Amino acid sequence: MSSLDTVISDLVIANRILAKEDVVDAYGHVSMRHPDNPKRFFLSRSLAPELVERDDIVEHDLEGLPVKDEKRSLYLERFIHAGIYAARPDVMAVVHAHAEDILPFGIAKATPLKPVIHSGSFIGAEVPVWDIADRFGDTNVLVTNMDQARDLAKCLGGNNVALMRGHGFASAARSLIEVVRMSVYLPRNARALLRAKQLGGEIKYLSQGEIDARNRGYSPYSTETWRAWEFWATKAGCNHMLTRPDGGHVHGQKK
Ligand SMILES: [Zn+2]
Repeated sequence: MSSLDTVISDLVIANRILAKEDVVDAYGHVSMRHPDNPKRFFLSRSLAPELVERDDIVEHDLEGLPVKDEKRSLYLERFIHAGIYAARPDVMAVVHAHAEDILPFGIAKATPLKPVIHSGSFIGAEVPVWDIADRFGDTNVLVTNMDQARDLAKCLGGNNVALMRGHGFASAARSLIEVVRMSVYLPRNARALLRAKQLGGEIKYLSQGEIDARNRGYSPYSTETWRAWEFWATKAGCNHMLTRPDGGHVHGQKK
């Protein structure tokens, strides 16, 4: 398979993993920047992520428009991806989803969402909240044009995740495997924090030093990261589509 074939397969796997792990449902999406052309990215046509196949992946430009003539419907909120790729040259993959557990933190100003569990460290010390009403007033709360997407990307700044008030989140990372991992652990971190709040008393967040130490020890294609990707992909029924970046054997695949 060519490297582009692998990218498309990995993006299909990412769609299925996010569906299986309840990060997305009928809505929500994941994209990946074109590895050879930073002005393009790949994203499914308008379809529930669990149902995405290779042929559903559409190449988009940084205005959120399809590169080739496309008759099929596209995601209404594809601009989120275009806005973040345009603003952040370091970002190679983006997720937008409405995972329920993070929603309270976009609404309740008194409690910021921060890392409280080790696997949540990758969301970073700051998770800004973007409120579409601040600049755009009464809307349908969806990001449906580039103006709104640019404003969201501005709020995201150099962070890994932005919450979207009353709506969901956008996460960005330097690889697909990282953005999936972060998006899986983001709602789990939110759940742990919500439950700790119910227990009452002071909340102990991860320290900046702990977040830094975890970042230093992280590599996107290490054995530990591949372990999670292989596990999630197998759970989502995609084991046959896996390609190891080092060309090694994938557990359960015929040699
Ligand atoms: Zn949305």
